[in-house]
Amino acid sequence: MKRLKSVTVHPAVRASRLGKIFDDQAIPGDSPRIPDYREGKRHLYIGPKKGKMFHVCASLDTRYICCSTHVISHISNCPFECTYCFLQNYLTDTTLSLVADTGAILDEIREKTVLQPWRLFRIGTWELGDSIAIPPLNQAAAELVEGFSGMPNCILKLRTKSAEVEPLLDIDHGRKTVVSWTINPRQVITREEIGTAGLDARLDAMARVSSAGYPIGLHFDPMILFPGWEKAYRQTVQEIFDAVSPEEVIWISIGSLRFNPEMKKKIENNYPASTITAQEMVLGDDNKFRYLRPIRVDMYRHLLDLLDEHGAGHCFTYLCMERWNVWHEVFGRYPMSIGHLDFLMAQSVYNRFPEICACKPDRQKYLALEY
Ligand code: SF4
Repeated sequence: MKRLKSVTVHPAVRASRLGKIFDDQAIPGDSPRIPDYREGKRHLYIGPKKGKMFHVCASLDTRYICCSTHVISHISNCPFECTYCFLQNYLTDTTLSLVADTGAILDEIREKTVLQPWRLFRIGTWELGDSIAIPPLNQAAAELVEGFSGMPNCILKLRTKSAEVEPLLDIDHGRKTVVSWTINPRQVITREEIGTAGLDARLDAMARVSSAGYPIGLHFDPMILFPGWEKAYRQTVQEIFDAVSPEEVIWISIGSLRFNPEMKKKIENNYPASTITAQEMVLGDDNKFRYLRPIRVDMYRHLLDLLDEHGAGHCFTYLCMERWNVWHEVFGRYPMSIGHLDFLMAQSVYNRFPEICACKPDRQKYLALEY
C-alpha cells in the first residue's frame, strides 16, 4: 500500500481473492476515474470484467514484421514512471486498474484458443501496464499462472521491470508461463525508468524465477542511445548471463526508442529532466520518431554480437516494430510475413522447450493466418 494513496474495490468483486486483499482499507465503489496520468498511478481500482479482454496486440501493424502476440488487457496504467511510456499519451481514465475476475478471463481465453488447437498462442499481460509491478498485480499474475498451467496451446507472458516475484515462486506453473524482464543498463534505469527495480534487483528476481523452473524472456526494448552505450550494454549482458543460463531463455526481443510527435511533447512536459527527446530522429510513416536507421542497425548488431559472445546466439531473437530491410541488415534474413514469424517462434519453442509446445507447428497453417 505504500505507493498507493487510495484503493477502491467494486462491490461486485469484494468477495474475490484480489478484492479481499485490502479489506477495510479499501473504499467500496466504482473507478474514481483519475484524469491526471501521474496522479492516476497512485490510486488503485479493483473491478469486475467488462466486455472482451483477449485480443491481438494493438501495436500490430502490417507494415512491420510484428510478433503477433495476443494480450489480456486486465491491467491499466502502471505504478512506475518510465519517461518513454506510451501510456502517457494513450489513457483517458488513468486510474491504476485491475480486473479481479481471473476465472472469467481464463474462460474467455479457453473459448478462443480451443478453436485453433494447432496454434501456439503467446499471451501477454503487459499491453497497458507492468504485469507484476507491485502487490496485488503480482498476486493477479499468480492466479493467471495457475490457470495457464492447464492450457495445452497457450503460453502466458508476464513482462516486468519489478522484482516482486514472491507470489510466483511456489505455485504450479507447469512451465506454461514465461517471466520476462525489460532490460536496460543502470544509467537508463536510473534516469528514464523512474520507480522501477534496479538492475541488481531485477537480475536477482530473474535468477529466483529461473530456479523455480520458469522459462525467461528478455526484452532489450527500448534500447536507448547515450554516451558509452556500447560498453554499458556489454556490461549489462554480462550480468544477465551471470544470473541466468541462456538455456533457460526462451526468446529475446530487441527494439529502439520510438514515440509519436504528440508523445514527444508529453515526455518533455511530464519529465523535463529526461534527455531522450534530444537525439536526432526520423519520423516514420507510422508517425513515430526513431533513431536513424544506420544507428538502429548498429545498436542491434552490437547487441546480437554480445548475445553470441555469451552463448545466447541460439535463443530466438527478433526485432520489434521494424521492417524487413532492417531485419535483413541485422540478421542477413527476414521472415516473409507476420504469420511466418509466428511460425518461427512456435517452431523454436517446439524444438527447445518441447514440454511447453507438444504439437509440431504446421508451417502452412501459420502462413495462412490473416491479420
Ligand atoms: S513499466 Fe511499462 S507500463 Fe510501466 S511505466 Fe514503464 S513502460 Fe509504462
